[in-house]
Amino acid sequence: MSWLHPERVAALDAALARRILVLDGAMGTMIQRYALTEADYRGDRFAEGYDALHAADGHAHGAGCGCEGHDQRGNNDLLTLTRPDIIQGIHADYLAAGADIVETNTFNSTAVSLADYHLQHLVHELNREGAALARAACDAAQAQTPDRPRFVAGILGPTSRTASISPDVNDPGYRAVTFDELVAIYRDAAHGLIDGGADILMVETVFDTLNAKAALYAVETVFDERGGRLPVMISGTITDASGRTLSGQTAEAFWYSLQHARPHAVGLNCALGAKDLRPHVETLSQIAQTCVSCHPNAGLPNAFGGYDETPADMAEVLHEFATAGLLNIVGGCCGTSPDHIRAIAVAVADVAPRRPPVTSEAAA
Ligand SMILES: [Zn+2]
Ligand SMILES: [Zn+2]
Repeated sequence: MSWLHPERVAALDAALARRILVLDGAMGTMIQRYALTEADYRGDRFAEGYDALHAADGHAHGAGCGCEGHDQRGNNDLLTLTRPDIIQGIHADYLAAGADIVETNTFNSTAVSLADYHLQHLVHELNREGAALARAACDAAQAQTPDRPRFVAGILGPTSRTASISPDVNDPGYRAVTFDELVAIYRDAAHGLIDGGADILMVETVFDTLNAKAALYAVETVFDERGGRLPVMISGTITDASGRTLSGQTAEAFWYSLQHARPHAVGLNCALGAKDLRPHVETLSQIAQTCVSCHPNAGLPNAFGGYDETPADMAEVLHEFATAGLLNIVGGCCGTSPDHIRAIAVAVADVAPRRPPVTSEAAA
């Protein structure tokens, strides 16, 4: 199957061949700085705590219509609709700091996560508009520096449910979500991201490989329907000290169970700081016959839930990753800011990108 946007993929591949590409940093960390109130999150459209433009059975909202408002503070993805100025401004700040790839504000724009806010009908709209905001920011940055293409990574988050582990210790066979339910959920999100102009789809912060398989399967069915593909990135999360994902896999097992999706890049993000991710990134860099990415947190959370690693700290560690030949794409996750991304971009600017290994199998 061909690419949906062949010229964008050619630009991405040319850039990846030349240098280490820089991914942006945290969205949530930047949103926190605005200290937004419930009213900010709601805006006009959601002033009552529900969607004034949408009613479940098409009724007209009014006194006694029975619709209940729900708190929206913390629903960061909703800001795409209610404070697009803030979201696009954060994208612009990361691009100005040197990001080549920005991630859409859609980490929780799945039906599972939006159900917490009773807004699960917004999946397509939030993904489409989230991608459109990032697209507008990238196009503006690229217009300033035409020799430097900028890319939108449409983010498919992990959802709050796991398909392979029971949340009930007394009922190990129970699942809060099935594979087929996840496929349907991810299909809606992927369609929205593509409609909004994403260049890449990124399955991010994977803690359960079965969830990622559902996302990748969903994405394949969407590509089939549209008669073309986007490059796919997969980024897993190591959640325990033994170096495994929540569903119990090492970085090596993670790659072997997902390589069939032929991703443009595989990598690790979140949960740990850069230093603690190093052995696992090194493993991926040795075995993955594709690009390797890494976007760590700014260290482990401190007692107040904040992150302490400075831009200089992170840049120093990630510079070593780069000179060791481990990286094709690098950025930041929780606790990182445009200052972190600027320092990281400078640190890797003159370092050659990793060359994926050529195995006898691949060469044959
Ligand atoms: Zn109503
Ligand atoms: Zn994170």
